[in-house]
Amino acid sequence: MSNVTEIFGSEVFNDTVMRSALPQETYDALMETITEGKPMSLETANVVASAMKDWALKKGATHYTHWFQPMTGITAEKHDSFISPAEGGKAIMEFSGKELIKGEPDASSFPSGGLRETCEARGYTAWDPSSFAFIKDGTLCVPTAFCSYGGEALDKKTPLLRSMEAINTQAVRVLKLMGEDSVRNINITVGPEQEYFLVDKNLYDMREDLVFTGRTLFGAKPPKGQELDDHYFGVIKPRVSAFMKELDEELWKLGIYAKTKHNEAAPAQHELAPVFTTVNIATDHNQLTMEMMKKVALRHDLVCLLHEKPFAGVNGSGKHNNWSISTDGGENIFKPGKNPHDNKRFILFLCAVIKAVDEYQDLLRVCISTAGNDHRLGGDEAPPAIVSLYLGEQIENILEALENDAEYNEKKREKMQSGAHVIPTFSKDTADRNRTSPLAFTGNKFEFRMLGSANSVAGPNTVFNTIVAEALCQFADELENADDVKKAIDDIIRKTIKKHKRIIFSGNNYSEEWVKEAEKRGLLNIASTPEAIPYLIDKKNIELFTKHAVYNEAELEARCEILLETYAKTVNIEALTMVDMIKKDIIPAVSSYTEEISNAALAKKAFVKSIDTKMEENLVIKLSKLNAELYDAAGAIEKAISDSSKFDGNVVGLSRFYREKVLEAMNKARVIVDELEVNTSREYWPYPTYADLLFSVN
Ligand code: ADP
Ligand code: MG
Repeated sequence: MSNVTEIFGSEVFNDTVMRSALPQETYDALMETITEGKPMSLETANVVASAMKDWALKKGATHYTHWFQPMTGITAEKHDSFISPAEGGKAIMEFSGKELIKGEPDASSFPSGGLRETCEARGYTAWDPSSFAFIKDGTLCVPTAFCSYGGEALDKKTPLLRSMEAINTQAVRVLKLMGEDSVRNINITVGPEQEYFLVDKNLYDMREDLVFTGRTLFGAKPPKGQELDDHYFGVIKPRVSAFMKELDEELWKLGIYAKTKHNEAAPAQHELAPVFTTVNIATDHNQLTMEMMKKVALRHDLVCLLHEKPFAGVNGSGKHNNWSISTDGGENIFKPGKNPHDNKRFILFLCAVIKAVDEYQDLLRVCISTAGNDHRLGGDEAPPAIVSLYLGEQIENILEALENDAEYNEKKREKMQSGAHVIPTFSKDTADRNRTSPLAFTGNKFEFRMLGSANSVAGPNTVFNTIVAEALCQFADELENADDVKKAIDDIIRKTIKKHKRIIFSGNNYSEEWVKEAEKRGLLNIASTPEAIPYLIDKKNIELFTKHAVYNEAELEARCEILLETYAKTVNIEALTMVDMIKKDIIPAVSSYTEEISNAALAKKAFVKSIDTKMEENLVIKLSKLNAELYDAAGAIEKAISDSSKFDGNVVGLSRFYREKVLEAMNKARVIVDELEVNTSREYWPYPTYADLLFSVN
């Protein structure tokens, strides 16, 4: 292993590099753009571009790309070489400020949700100087935002940057009203924990479903699953360990603070968490992390599965988005401190989150909705589809005291008593954890656990920033009009707790009782993506996003359409894959096996006339019956797919139809196939089984 501190950030055009490569006044101008959003002159851009190019050439790069995050959820890049013709048939390497600032990829093939007609292909990528450029595979990657000719956002980054401005404005307003004049900016910090599966590449290649859809569409339960809890935090196997080491190195080179790695609950499932950083950088880094996971896995003959539910019957993969606010002085606003009860800043901001989460439960549900994540939410491993907030006993007690204007008595922090005296004692945390909660306050940050493993964190953070900005904005409005600010703060706190405490829940989120209790409390329980997405264009949500200039109405409508269309397309691909596998592999395999059993029985009978062939007979009958049912089930899927054409032009109806009819037909077929799998000889079964896939990487 190379020296970590030496390789860290070696492929990044970061602050240290810029300080030494740029003239002071260029550096200062760039910093003004980054921290204060001041427009940049072309002159500055030219100097930065030239320095960037020189640095990249020295590192062996030949190309540059505007790296962006279209609505496909993955990143996009179009590579241009630095080459420019020079006299005498020669070439020079060039990169101008204009090329740095603006790119013009032909945008016609990216989803736009009607924001751009195909004939108006023009789309722009615009440099985001707040995220460092980096080198990947010999290409200088310039992080950019992506928008249409008319300026509408066509990507995930633009709204995120806008939401950062929104929350910054409102948080600073509130802080000023609280007398904190020294805070000029706040910073949204995010640390996303990333779960994933690793499977053997050779086995992966044998499964059309994994290749086309990222998940297994069939697969009988293996004899062993995760019931022994022996994988969670278990010893990391050598092949996986080698992968993780190389992944860490690649990420460190890109300036990503990869920090924690461990085995997760399901066999073959793992997790990586970085140290938190500013939200837009955390977003870029998470996209890069997912990309690197896939790339590095291949070097080890492995495939990294980022799908939310690659295997039925064992845990799926999520992503935990840890979110907090810090001041420009580096103070975490959500750090309760020694006396959280008296920490009014903490309590007021906490109230903003409580209010935001309660008022915009629907948006929190929307921003994590995808076809893949639907297989997790509401199952008994992942958070439920009901949004609620866990605060822990201490904070709940404080809020109760504040609401009732009652005395609050801090419980003494207990010492940890292990019973073995050689073990050092330490103070316990003030609250236990609640793993079942979709959104938990975890001591100094909020951990949003509903995200699917493949989701970009841009969307959820855009929502979180905006809804908290709105709550803070309402607080600020009230405080601005108050004669006695101190009293007004107490009033706001009391009022907010009273009105919004229904969103706070610390019990078991997986239980049936909670579903009933949540209904009583009037909380939303949105079952699926097609039902969730249309909330995006609810009147109150359009008002919210337009008020804070995060999305305009056209952008919201476009997003709604893209998300629903993506849902329908995803299920459609799965359905077609299923039919293909059934007709071309499974039915023929079962037929051949049935034939072999029949022949064996005939041979036995010919050899010993009196022999009993009941077993063969029963098995042949059973397999033939199931195979016939499967043929019909495949037909039903095909019919459902063709029936979907009646929803042409009605994307809401279409996505619901896919959810209700196509998925239902697929579920029926799956049950039959899984039954066939356990009754068919290993020799004939055309695919690696769950046991093969989940337990073969050693
Ligand atoms: P756990 O599994 O206990 O939740 P991890 O260490 O796996 O903890 O992940 C916690 C994540 O939260 C890390 O990415 C960490 O950097 C991040 N985090 C810690 N403090 C903050 C903060 N103030 N703001 C945002 N993220 C934070
Ligand atoms: Mg974790």
